[in-house]
Amino acid sequence: MQLRCAAFLGSALIATHAAWGWGGEGHQIVGAIAMTRLTPEARAAIVELLGDEDLATAGLWADQIRGDPTYDWAKPFHYVNLPRTAEAIDLARDCPTGECVVAAIPRFLAEAANRSLPHEKRKEALKFAVHFIGDLHQPLHAGYKDDLGGNRIQIVAFGDQKTNLHALWDTVLINHRTSGDWKRLAEELVAAAQPGLVAEWQSNLDSTDWANESAAITRAIYRDLPADQKVDEAYYAANIETIRRRLTAGGYRMAAALNKAFAAAAVPAPVAPTAKPSGQRAPAAEDRRQVPAAD
Ligand SMILES: [Zn+2]
Repeated sequence: MQLRCAAFLGSALIATHAAWGWGGEGHQIVGAIAMTRLTPEARAAIVELLGDEDLATAGLWADQIRGDPTYDWAKPFHYVNLPRTAEAIDLARDCPTGECVVAAIPRFLAEAANRSLPHEKRKEALKFAVHFIGDLHQPLHAGYKDDLGGNRIQIVAFGDQKTNLHALWDTVLINHRTSGDWKRLAEELVAAAQPGLVAEWQSNLDSTDWANESAAITRAIYRDLPADQKVDEAYYAANIETIRRRLTAGGYRMAAALNKAFAAAAVPAPVAPTAKPSGQRAPAAEDRRQVPAAD
């Protein structure tokens, strides 16, 4: 989410390190689940924009560029903060300039699907959209500013693992028993997904609702945090199902959101010139320049 602790990387390099959303595995899991539910139109659009890269890998990019000042403008888009006393997100209060994850998701989905934009811009927009859909399903991305979404709350996990609350939910709990085998976990979550729940998730593509779900879980996380800030097997057992459910919901919703965005962006049918109202510019000619010729 946001910058926090210093971490040793390798032997000598000290880098500012932060927990910024599901760790790599979380984003890979969400992307891999989404790949199982794409329409042919969405799949074709993703190949057009990303080439060989799939959504599991594409979801990592927005964290990989966090050190690049060119992209500093995107930093607030990974999360939304709300008051601790708030029951729900209020975009006028919590995202007044549109610089939060709730607004970023529809913005970048629309940019990714907009054939009048340059290819490179659409490609980046797709990678941002994919990452932010993942982020918003990590509950602590609808969190509190005063502790940087839990980054300032020190935690000791499973006896000796020093971490913080945000990182605990990003990576530590996911990896506790899977040991980084995210592909297997993604397959397991797809196999375990209940069709009724999947339909429910996919029927609601409103990112404000997704944020409210996360905010509700965040409230419970703070309420249930052990006073000594030590988490153990009992904490894992009590919370892992929530994490599995958020990863799964994120994956299926990502597919549904991309299917919808790219269905709307399907190659427009040729329009007879006489059908255009006079005085209105026809966007189709320019749009079609981006589109490979049909067979
Ligand atoms: Zn992020």
